[in-house]
Amino acid sequence: MTYNNENIFARIIKGEADCVKILENDYILSFMDVMPQTPGHTLVIPKYGTENIFDLPEEYFIHLMDAKQKIAKAIKKAYAPTGVMIMQLNGKEAGQTVFHLHFHIIPRKEGLNYKFHSSEIADFKDLRREAEKIKKWL
Ligand code: 5GP
Repeated sequence: MTYNNENIFARIIKGEADCVKILENDYILSFMDVMPQTPGHTLVIPKYGTENIFDLPEEYFIHLMDAKQKIAKAIKKAYAPTGVMIMQLNGKEAGQTVFHLHFHIIPRKEGLNYKFHSSEIADFKDLRREAEKIKKWL
């Protein structure tokens, strides 16, 4: 499949679609997942048009890893989860639904209800409140 420059995450990078931002630099953008699997569910994407991990230029990896660690640490402070899941899917058979490379960072703990894919779109007001909890620790 060829990369579609009009996918929703490409449109977010271009500023054509809204998101609740967590972190941004020349290489990456991080924002709240609009259908959170748990409160605090955050996404990190490269500012490079690729569907999956296989085609990403090397210079992006360090920035993605750095952002994931920073955000995972902030999520630990914000939610005191006993686990933090970092997940990335390649291809529809792996469960991928948005075809711009992205990493999920999801706080987990006993009793915190988790769904592989949520279908409930969150209110941006609620996402902004959760984003503030995380950003406080970045
Ligand atoms: P995937 O299944 O491809 O790994 O995950 C795609 C994720 O993107 C899902 O968790 C879904 O909730 C999230 N998502 C889909 N559309 C949007 C959107 O327009 N904005 C944001 N912030 N997240 C989205």
